[in-house]
Amino acid sequence: MSIKENLHKIKNTFINPNCKLIAVSKTHPSESIQEAYDLGVRDFGENKVQELVEKAEKLPKDIRWHMIGHLQRNKVKYMAEFIYLVHGVDSLKLLKEINKQAAKVSRTINCLLQVHIAEEESKFGFDEKELFELLEGKTIHELQNVKVIGLMGMATFTENEEQVEKEFEGLKNLKNKLQQMDLPENFDLQELSMGMTGDYLLAQKQDSTMVRIGTAIFGERDYN
Ligand SMILES: *Cc1c(COP(=O)(O)O)cnc(C)c1O
Repeated sequence: MSIKENLHKIKNTFINPNCKLIAVSKTHPSESIQEAYDLGVRDFGENKVQELVEKAEKLPKDIRWHMIGHLQRNKVKYMAEFIYLVHGVDSLKLLKEINKQAAKVSRTINCLLQVHIAEEESKFGFDEKELFELLEGKTIHELQNVKVIGLMGMATFTENEEQVEKEFEGLKNLKNKLQQMDLPENFDLQELSMGMTGDYLLAQKQDSTMVRIGTAIFGERDYN
């Protein structure tokens, strides 16, 4: 199947047509991104800073680049000038660094806080307690060059759909709970980034506003 057919098929299955599609292009060549771009896609997700920067240099400037992977603090500076949204912010230290680099280039960088919703230990993210600690602290109020526009989560890698949907539901409920609170000025929780190729429909059932889809658009990744 071609990228065009894949995109068509995905869009046709969306439960919520307004849910934003982030085309996850990691490991795929710039030619594939250009092909999707020519079909109207403007949001692309990458998980390695070097790859992201190299692709951004060659590809059209109106692409909205999403950093979806685990981000190391020392790499923030390379993408501060152009990154559209950082999905995986999982510590205050990282948020501070993003703020610092954003200030240097006179920008405000939009971020999502990654919340740990999966069973696996290995997935990054805040747990609920850590999130509330962040909100209660002083530092968060000083970060004027970042804006937290939502939450991001990755469900457990399992065939058990009930469990996956429950995890997404938990993230939705957390967002709703936070929205009831008196949040720092640099918070405007709108987005819920959840759902990938295997579980984006379950995520949309739980009000996901952004799905990050790679394999179903570009095919299997070859890591060699
Ligand atoms: C790779 C990746 C995706 C896309 O995964 P697919 O299963 O190929 O759709 C989504 N989110 C994150 C954080 C990823 O690293």
